[in-house]
Amino acid sequence: MGTRGKQIVGESAKEIVELLNRALADEWLAYYQYWVGALIVKGPMRPNVQAELSEHAKEEFGHAGMLAERIIQLGGTPILNPAQWQKLSGCGYDEPKDPHVLKLLEQNIKGEQCAIVSYNTMLKKIMVEKDPITFHLIRKIMGDEVKHEQDLQDLEEDIKLI
Ligand code: FE
Ligand code: FE
Ligand code: MG
Repeated sequence: MGTRGKQIVGESAKEIVELLNRALADEWLAYYQYWVGALIVKGPMRPNVQAELSEHAKEEFGHAGMLAERIIQLGGTPILNPAQWQKLSGCGYDEPKDPHVLKLLEQNIKGEQCAIVSYNTMLKKIMVEKDPITFHLIRKIMGDEVKHEQDLQDLEEDIKLI
């Protein structure tokens, strides 16, 4: 842990770590939902949808890594037990019971929309807590989620035009 880097965040560190761990839980669940979705998806434009879901899985995994690194910088511990993912998650896990492309896209779009709202709320809190490093990180991740939503909605639009 970098001492000065942590010192400038001061007493807010604990609260920010809690927010980051909640986001970490969401990212792991999003990662798995995309990862398994890419394997089971069926229907029109399957290869395109698979490629997009796999790409997003990798990016959610990347987000989890960035969040965990920031948690450690703030003197916290990233979630150690996967049982905590469901408990702490704000956006939850939408089990892809129906493998049809449109159903999977719908579920994942809903997940991205939840992530966008939840990161937006987090940005406002972090602004108040005055942690510019976390603010910048969350803003970056939120930009990725906005792109994810658009990529999925573009695919959904194209499939519906077939
Ligand atoms: Fe993400
Ligand atoms: Fe995403
Ligand atoms: Mg994409």
